[in-house]
Amino acid sequence: MEQSANHQLHVAESVDWKDAVIALLEPRSPYRPWRYGTVEAQEGDAVAFVLNTDPPSVLADVARVEAAGDPRTAVFDRALRESNLVELSTLAKVLGLEMWAARAWRFDGDDAIKLELSLDECRYCCAPESRFGHNTMASARTLLRFEGQCDGCGQDIDLTGADARDEVFVHTVDQHLRSAPESEGSGVRDWPAVVCRRCHERMVEEGWVSFVEFKFAMNPVCPECGERRARETFYGMPSDHMNIPPWEYAGGCCATAEEWCCSICYHRW
Ligand SMILES: [Zn+2]
Ligand SMILES: [Zn+2]
Ligand SMILES: [Zn+2]
Repeated sequence: MEQSANHQLHVAESVDWKDAVIALLEPRSPYRPWRYGTVEAQEGDAVAFVLNTDPPSVLADVARVEAAGDPRTAVFDRALRESNLVELSTLAKVLGLEMWAARAWRFDGDDAIKLELSLDECRYCCAPESRFGHNTMASARTLLRFEGQCDGCGQDIDLTGADARDEVFVHTVDQHLRSAPESEGSGVRDWPAVVCRRCHERMVEEGWVSFVEFKFAMNPVCPECGERRARETFYGMPSDHMNIPPWEYAGGCCATAEEWCCSICYHRW
């Protein structure tokens, strides 16, 4: 980042958070969900993306203005992957920018640099609980972690089309409550997920409230204990243990033929 006194951070604000997340995930998307208040910028300026979620949020990755000087064509330093969202008013409060957070289209100098550095600190890792709750900020956080496949059936979901918003669905879950002191926090809780239209409609038709239950019902019965709680095994070192969903099992770095692990008796097969 250029630490100059005239460094600027420009704001792009979405008019539809879901279209906006789709456009962020899929650069070929025809969606144009962003409003801009500035059309002129200097090369190297930052563009921050504010989503009209409830509550309003900011993408932790900023884009960089290129030589053309147009904030509308700013590009990310690297491809977005598991991007985070920060709640806007708290971030602004901490930085002493609360009065401007909901109004300004541009931040200059130190304010721009402070914002950019703070957003950068929030880029990596996020607790799964930040995606719990039924608000649209949690939904947008869940959708930002979408990597191309339905969490239910594993089919690809295409986000390049004009109908993408009707093909991808976010399953939200109740907010997380901490478990009682000295208790182990037992029981399978539900988990936020991104599903295709077919899985979404199946969940509605068949009356599934919990995505985790829906997912386990698709997996095989344990040959040892007969329970239907099989987690699918993946191999390789997970970088982010907290975010392994309850229907997956980290099998370690040495791949074997075992595909499933029972959540009840820990039998692997
Ligand atoms: Zn599906
Ligand atoms: Zn090993
Ligand atoms: Zn079992």
